Amino acid sequence: TERLLQKSEKLALLGQMAAGIAHEIRNPLTSIKGFVQLFKSGPPKEEYIDIVLSELERINSIVGEFLVLAKPTAVVFAEKDVRALIRDVVTLINTQSILNNVQIFTEFNSDLPMVSCEENQLKQVFLNLLKNAIEAMPRGGNIDIKVKSKEEDKIIIQISDQGIGIPKDRISTLGEPFYTTKEKGTGLGLMTCYKIIESHYGELRIHSKENEGTTIEVILPTITQPLLKRELVY
Ligand code: ADP
Ligand code: MG
Repeated sequence: TERLLQKSEKLALLGQMAAGIAHEIRNPLTSIKGFVQLFKSGPPKEEYIDIVLSELERINSIVGEFLVLAKPTAVVFAEKDVRALIRDVVTLINTQSILNNVQIFTEFNSDLPMVSCEENQLKQVFLNLLKNAIEAMPRGGNIDIKVKSKEEDKIIIQISDQGIGIPKDRISTLGEPFYTTKEKGTGLGLMTCYKIIESHYGELRIHSKENEGTTIEVILPTITQPLLKRELVY
């Protein structure tokens, strides 16, 4: 039997959802804003117009995804190359990293297996993690993204920054909704990451040292695991 939600609980859930939507839409909006500002200084490159268009499309699909969450339907997983996915995300966050004096380096092992995923959701995860890494380095620095396979049936993506780090006793708090140490933070980014990675049967681990930096590890099963080849239903 279903437990009936109190009206106040329902309203609280609604509020969380609304805040979530706002958060997820802010990433592509920031990127669009950056490119449009760039367009003021000269004729826009076609490549950048395409990025703006795909960011607008993302906002459209994010709104769609939240509607999907509100009304359960099938989510289709497809086989994707993580390298291409990460390159796209790095391109999307490029303006923001340049503005913040941050350089992003990528290192991909050869012969990486494909992963079974919902592409936009995974992009969201890497965008949120890169955004946090940039925000952790107010005076700039480097971000290293390393991707390798692990034990044949797993792929591991490490995102390391040289930022302020996280106090040891706070690491377990991360991922709770609305936990933020930032003035304009929402505390919804990591929660979203945990949820998405969980729905991909993966793992998210946080390693951090105060004043040295943080490494976030995302471990995903590859398509060698047959369970993930079929459609998943929320
Ligand atoms: P927000 O970024 O809006 O604060 P998040 O859920 O993305 O929300 O992150 C929650 C908190 O986790 C941040 O406010 C910050 O304190 C901490 N955090 C996350 N990523 C990092 C990082 N790479 N370096 C340092 N602190 C981090
Ligand atoms: Mg964040």
